[in-house]
Amino acid sequence: MKTFAYYDDANIPRIGIETESGIFDFSRIWEFFKDYKGLRQATALHFLQVMIENDYYSLQTFQEVLQIVTGFRSLEDVRLREPIRYDVPVARPPKLLCLGRNYRAHAEEWGSQVPDSPIVFSKLPSSLLPHRGQIEIPRGSGRIDHELELALVIGKKGKRISAEKAMDYIAGYTIANDITARDRQLQDMKKSYPWTISKSYDTFCPCGPFLIPKDVINDPHQLNMELKVNGTTKQKANTRDMIFKIPDIIAYISYHITLSPGDIICTGTPEGTLPIVAGDRITARIDHLGVLENSVVER
Ligand code: MG
Repeated sequence: MKTFAYYDDANIPRIGIETESGIFDFSRIWEFFKDYKGLRQATALHFLQVMIENDYYSLQTFQEVLQIVTGFRSLEDVRLREPIRYDVPVARPPKLLCLGRNYRAHAEEWGSQVPDSPIVFSKLPSSLLPHRGQIEIPRGSGRIDHELELALVIGKKGKRISAEKAMDYIAGYTIANDITARDRQLQDMKKSYPWTISKSYDTFCPCGPFLIPKDVINDPHQLNMELKVNGTTKQKANTRDMIFKIPDIIAYISYHITLSPGDIICTGTPEGTLPIVAGDRITARIDHLGVLENSVVER
């Protein structure tokens, strides 16, 4: 089961769901469910972020709502067809955090030391870009690289979360491409400046297309990941090769910073980060999470 954010023909944000039976408008299905249950005061659902904040976002909720609604009506009138205008699953996260050098081979390909504690930095949420959006490279900005990453979305507020309890704080998983202005980043690193600008150009965080409820994924550390540029494989790895695993990442960050529903954490990229140029077409795939596609333009 896959969930996503999209805009309908009237440009209204909505929640979509993909099941074995097809793709449907879950915002409408939720209205049918509310009417049936007499829950007229319950909130309308237009954003996955609202579901997460209200603790509705789970595989169990989706299954129960679908089971009840399909018990008394057909879903044919709320079936969606392509082209769907996807949005980022959580388009305005409270925080967008990333891990640096969390795959040994990627650290080594840049001659960097393998870290002994997680390297955490932030991208600005304004860099988020939906599935099928265009990555905009500013003219004259030097080398720009792709970085395929498994991203997780936090499901509930927590501080000093233990590694043992960390998985309880996840709402789901998605794909992110941590696009990086590499020349700018290397120049800034030489001057001991932060990475904020080189990581946060507008459109430099493609994310999606889906948010997958965590219970769909048996083991987030056993997922094949592959990124292609114009059909040629550039990155191919498995999330098992992460240096710091997800429970340790959540424990480490939340020791210092309160995590909030909707926060996105990108868990680092494997080796093979390479330049992209205008005209490129990038497809990023992770097992069970779908395929994130974006094109590149120069602006
Ligand atoms: Mg990265």
